[in-house]
Amino acid sequence: PPTTTSASKPTDAPINIIMIGMAGSGKTTLMQRINAYLHERKTPPYVLNLDPAVSKLPFQANIDIRDTVDYKQVMKEYNLGPNGGILTSLNLFTTKLDQVMQIVDKRAGDNKYFLYDTPGQIEIFTWSASGSIITNTLAATYPTVVVYVVDTPRTASPTTFMSNMMYACSILYKTQLPFLLAFNKTDVISHEFAVSWMNDFEAFQQALRGQEEGFMNSLMNSMSLVLDEFYNHLRVVGVSAMTGQGLDEFFEKIDEAVKEYYEEY
Ligand code: GDP
Ligand code: MG
Repeated sequence: PPTTTSASKPTDAPINIIMIGMAGSGKTTLMQRINAYLHERKTPPYVLNLDPAVSKLPFQANIDIRDTVDYKQVMKEYNLGPNGGILTSLNLFTTKLDQVMQIVDKRAGDNKYFLYDTPGQIEIFTWSASGSIITNTLAATYPTVVVYVVDTPRTASPTTFMSNMMYACSILYKTQLPFLLAFNKTDVISHEFAVSWMNDFEAFQQALRGQEEGFMNSLMNSMSLVLDEFYNHLRVVGVSAMTGQGLDEFFEKIDEAVKEYYEEY
């Protein structure tokens, strides 16, 4: 479990929240909404942007990777494409992680929540050495929850839903950290269909059958058995980064996840 200073019991220790999700799922917008939500409640978070390629941030970051590295410059200098530029920028930033953690540590008394936005393209963070180093370092300091953000309207077909859940599942097993699945954009479409597919194997099978994609369906059929196990232990919430709906429940689940994590030790 994370080490806490003698001054802070697990219950009042700060909490790291890492936003992970496919490009366009709404990580950055959700960061902004959560930031506003916590400010309204007089518990301002400490906010860190780890996306070197974001052009305009809708929130004020306390620490911004773009202050340390210019990803366009990195692309030129190392003759890289956009993804290589972003990855290399993240690597350069990670070499200074100890300095970042020192700053963060000084803020731990004043801020309960530390929010981390990650690069738009999910694999740059989840399957890179730097992403792992950052995640592990955070988890070693304070309780850390991975929030997996889902673009709910774009995951309404059974096959895309299953692909997204497989991805979420792989991240859970890789990080082994408290995990919250956040169905975003519920202002566009309710996440009820997702909850029913997760709770009711038959309902999902039926939705798959409706799709009539022969080979794909038999693959999906087998995989849904694996996912059934994943769903059993999963914490789920529906939110809208646009309207702010679901954020009370979001924070209830974050706190629950942290508590449960501590109880396991
Ligand atoms: P990121 O790549 O995961 O950081 O995604 P962004 O936060 O940049 O959002 C991608 C797009 O989705 C933007 O056009 C947002 O305005 C939109 N978006 C994000 N959250 C919501 C939401 O809750 N509802 C709606 N309707 N749109 C959203
Ligand atoms: Mg973003």
